[in-house]
Amino acid sequence: MNPVNLLDLDLDGLTTWFQEIGEKPFRARQVLRWLHHYGAEDFGQMTDLAKDLRAKLADLAEIRPPRLVAEQAAADGTRKFLLEVGPGNRVETVFIPESDRGTLCVSTQVGCALECRFCSTGRQGFNRNLSVAEILGQLWWANKALGRDPKGERIISNVVLMGMGEPLLNFENTVTAVSVMLDDHAYGLSRRRVTVSTSGIVPAMDRLRERLPVALAVSLHAPDDALRDELVPINRKYPLKELMAACRRYIEAAPRDFITFEYVMLQGINDQPEHARALIGLVREVPCKFNLIPFNPFPDSGYRRSPPETVRRFAALLHEAGLIATTRKTRGDDIDAACGQLAGEVEDRSRRVLRRMSPASAEVAA
Ligand code: SAH
Ligand code: SF4
Repeated sequence: MNPVNLLDLDLDGLTTWFQEIGEKPFRARQVLRWLHHYGAEDFGQMTDLAKDLRAKLADLAEIRPPRLVAEQAAADGTRKFLLEVGPGNRVETVFIPESDRGTLCVSTQVGCALECRFCSTGRQGFNRNLSVAEILGQLWWANKALGRDPKGERIISNVVLMGMGEPLLNFENTVTAVSVMLDDHAYGLSRRRVTVSTSGIVPAMDRLRERLPVALAVSLHAPDDALRDELVPINRKYPLKELMAACRRYIEAAPRDFITFEYVMLQGINDQPEHARALIGLVREVPCKFNLIPFNPFPDSGYRRSPPETVRRFAALLHEAGLIATTRKTRGDDIDAACGQLAGEVEDRSRRVLRRMSPASAEVAA
């Protein structure tokens, strides 16, 4: 029998597993604490478990996080961790320190199938979903590396699922991983401090609302269907009218009383005053805040970052209409750790990646 990787289980999963192996259910809490609160790497460290139980666990289970292969620090304090998730596949996780919080940006898939035009992860095609242990492993490692501040508080106070991949297309694993992030025996983050970011998978937004409502960010990027169909192709399946209705439903259960709309600023594409005006009309009935993200370029993207003046004008129009809009500071771009720049490494690149590349680079990639 293959050993069970305990990093794949949340409190419910661990409780069931302990019952299955004939142990008391409360062991689950104890072990979850060792795994995540203390970052235990082997059963020998779990000193409040009897020796024979530790031996039994070592027999039946394992603690197997993804392998940490590299760590980089940017001039602004941003840290990037590169993790190997099986041969040839690597994902990245980024820690962003701010004055009042420390945010870890976590990946949920190797690559992404949704092909948003301005996103480097989308360009790579999709390889596979990350397991719970691989999603949680990012927090597990980063937490070990960053530790606690002098007051004993954890350095990582917030998690955003905004790394590589579409979290809501890896639904079960994402929900299980988030439940460990929220668990008081593990990371104890509040629902307001864990944000799922989605390109707008409408039925999964409803499921998340029912299962485990946490803060929600929706990648909007365009004020009308014609433009959004082009930039965020999943819009053809779940157009804006349905997306806005799903946002309104989500708010009823959400821990915050607003949705964050992410809007990447692409010069000349979606950053003009008429786009701002259309956007104001679109979100009229959705309590929301805007996060304007200056586009982070990557090779052959074909897009340019909107100039700061254009972003300011755009934000001003939203403000005049009574909307809250903040412009995201670009962080960690000297180590390619900014939004949309996370590339990791994806084996078995899908064919469409080759199709999109020029013939010369397709040959190199093949
Ligand atoms: N798949 C999810 C979460 C990962 S992407 C989603 O799309 O929401 C996280 C955020 O980064 C999204 O808002 C995405 O649109 C944005 N993003 C992608 N590429 C970018 C780029 N090159 N520059 C700036 N932001 C980008
Ligand atoms: Fe996937 Fe999000 Fe990138 Fe779109 S923006 S391709 S959904 S990771």
